[in-house]
Amino acid sequence: MKKKVLVFRELPPDQLARLTAVHAVTVANPRLPEQAAAFRAALRDADAMIGSSYAIDAALLASAPRLKVISSISVGVDNYELRALAARGIMLCHTPGVLTETTADTLFSLIMASSRRLIELANLVREGRWQRNIGEDLFGWDVHGKTLGILGFGRIGQALARRAALGFGMPVLYHNLRTIDLATELPELLGKATHTPFDELLQRADIVAVVLPLSSETRGLIGAREFGLMKPGAIFVNGARGAIVQEAALLQALDSGRLRAAGLDVFATEPLPLDSPLRTHPKVTALPHIGSATIETRHAMAVLATSNLLQALAGERPAATVDF
Ligand code: NAP
Repeated sequence: MKKKVLVFRELPPDQLARLTAVHAVTVANPRLPEQAAAFRAALRDADAMIGSSYAIDAALLASAPRLKVISSISVGVDNYELRALAARGIMLCHTPGVLTETTADTLFSLIMASSRRLIELANLVREGRWQRNIGEDLFGWDVHGKTLGILGFGRIGQALARRAALGFGMPVLYHNLRTIDLATELPELLGKATHTPFDELLQRADIVAVVLPLSSETRGLIGAREFGLMKPGAIFVNGARGAIVQEAALLQALDSGRLRAAGLDVFATEPLPLDSPLRTHPKVTALPHIGSATIETRHAMAVLATSNLLQALAGERPAATVDF
């Protein structure tokens, strides 16, 4: 039987066609003022939703009384109030795995850009300020051989570790909840990556990368105490979620000289407000949340999210559901 599906973020045409072939579909993006009313109207009788980057909380769910399944086009599920979904018995699907390698590429790009000052020096050329050989004041910092500390050693954290350890000869320290048996799960990193307590990782790493999910445990996890533990001159990279980091403390660590540089793909408020000091800070490489934003990967995410939704509505077990 046809179900009512609300698409709340643009889907590629081929995936939209898969949905419309089977179900009654409304496309309405609540972030666009001209579509917000259509979104609210469609919520009232939606059986299912597919999209991302929009907060779905108890108040919104109260205006969607028929909703049974949400398919998120993301791996992170911090936009969804899980307790409210559980109370209503609503299934949540997401897109793990298909974005892992691309997001790890982005994180490694941020490490390279921050350490070698790539954007700053490319701008020197672009703006016609390259008029003599650059001097020591503009030299970068080697990446190869540096110790990389990875907070969150899941799919993306491990993919980042492979790039660092196998490609750049970097000793890797990692911190996560579950103990991982490298010999059986990641033999290629045996002897190259070491499980390290949180504080010790911050103290020993030259470069610290955050790849944790945003949760009640990780919100605001990195603040003044944590930046104070890091090595003077360390580099900090966040490719997970902005709210894991206390941005005022990050700015303080940059301004005091504690940190050499920061590479940030994510921010507490996105898009980054024009008056945020992080936007133009000389030591910050800021990206507009592009971790998974390649043609191939965004399409693969849409395919997986669409398949999840179709499977759930057909009464089958979707490929990727979130346990909560
Ligand atoms: P994942 O496979 O679930 O990995 C998350 C890791 O974090 C796991 O190793 C987990 O440990 C660990 N962890 C969770 N809570 C922790 C805590 N309180 N303390 C220490 N470790 C903790 O997820 P993933 O696919 O790698 O994605 C990670 C996150 O990256 C996502 O949640 C998302 O927010 C973000 N992300 C960002 C972008 C972007 O565009 N910038 C793109 C994709 C993903 P256990 O295994 O022991 O539970």
